[in-house]
Amino acid sequence: MPFFDLLLLDAIALTADPARPQIRGSAIGIRDGRITWLDAQPPAQYTATRTLRLPGHFVTPGFVNVHTHSILTMVRGVAADLGFAPSYTPGIPKGTRVNPSQARALARLGALEALLFGSTVIGDNFVHADVGTDAMVELGMRLCPSWRIHDVDFARVAHGDWHHEAAIGRKTLDAGLALHARWQDHPRVRVNLAAHAVDTCSDGFLREVAAASSAHGLTVSTHLGQSQVEVDRVRERSGRTSTEVLADVGLLNERLMGGHCIYVTEADAQKMAAAGAHAVHIPKCNATSGRLAPTPMLQRAGVNMALATDTQHGDMVELMRWALVTARVQEGRVDDSWQPHHVFHMATMGGAKALGMAGEIGSLEVGKAADLVVFDANRPHLRPHVNPLGNLVHTGQGRDVRMVVVAGDILVEDGLPTRVDMDAVCAEAEAATRELWGDEGKRYWERVQG
Ligand SMILES: [Zn+2]
Repeated sequence: MPFFDLLLLDAIALTADPARPQIRGSAIGIRDGRITWLDAQPPAQYTATRTLRLPGHFVTPGFVNVHTHSILTMVRGVAADLGFAPSYTPGIPKGTRVNPSQARALARLGALEALLFGSTVIGDNFVHADVGTDAMVELGMRLCPSWRIHDVDFARVAHGDWHHEAAIGRKTLDAGLALHARWQDHPRVRVNLAAHAVDTCSDGFLREVAAASSAHGLTVSTHLGQSQVEVDRVRERSGRTSTEVLADVGLLNERLMGGHCIYVTEADAQKMAAAGAHAVHIPKCNATSGRLAPTPMLQRAGVNMALATDTQHGDMVELMRWALVTARVQEGRVDDSWQPHHVFHMATMGGAKALGMAGEIGSLEVGKAADLVVFDANRPHLRPHVNPLGNLVHTGQGRDVRMVVVAGDILVEDGLPTRVDMDAVCAEAEAATRELWGDEGKRYWERVQG
């Protein structure tokens, strides 16, 4: 007789499995961290440690949020209105100034926000990845953390000076590999190498990252075609596009995730598709800075696309809506090429594929890890349930999430985290942010008030 640790009954399962995308009145059985039953009825006879009846709820796979910088919660509400990525922006606190205890507080805030809104894995990269990973792992979610790897001197970049130094590269790459060595046996942590961007990494240094990636089988996350500054800088340095540089140094392959992809040509997209490299679409961040990635073109080229919230708030449900409507604005029409299932795929399986974890997560299927999200869809904005996935994408919000399960463990219940105190996480991050802004915060206020 089947035995389940947890059995979810009566919800509408939105599986992200094209073979069976929706199951009404579903029965989802979980044992030893895996989905062991998925059907329209439970088995005729079974026992279960805990059974939840969820009529009017939706169950989806956990969202795969492949590109975040949790620590940058410290520039929330400010950086988005200054016109550029925080690392390049003068006048706001830099990651290099964050001390370990501040990093811990800020990383927990960013990761908790993502988890509460249904992300079961985040690909988080920045400075202080060591203490940040320790802090985030307490939440129980999956992590693909990485150090920010570069050989440019970031202190000089905000002032327009791209100065590369081998010692900086060595230090950051060694830190990335040490993080991998430390976490390689942890079942929920899979370290990536985050080569910051082609303009902030020299060609020679990128070759070293490529060698490390292939030696250890590590996914490489980078910012690709993020800014005109990057494009101009790389063109001036090498006469090539960033994608061409990545191909030349041996990084353009199925282990590469290119974040943003705003400034990629059609030829670049063809190269990415042929190499099996992945585009990470970050529509809210990009649109907030007045730009958009050419996702219709990337889709036509056959590039796998994942979704990510980056430095914007961690709501993957809202993000699916941004991805859908911005693609339609770019196309100037509504047709079969951009429908809710496309952006749902990007937020789930597309991300799992980009992280090299498609066999394990990204869809609700028997045998896969039990990473799933329960939405309360009884609220007026999610009724009636004619096309549940359409409801989720067009009117859903991260705040509709009631429960988040990772590998069978309930990490969010009734909308609250089970392993950390939410109020304490918020208070510690608030205190760290006040310390970091200091006088710059006062100057910022004077400027915006004046
Ligand atoms: Zn980023």
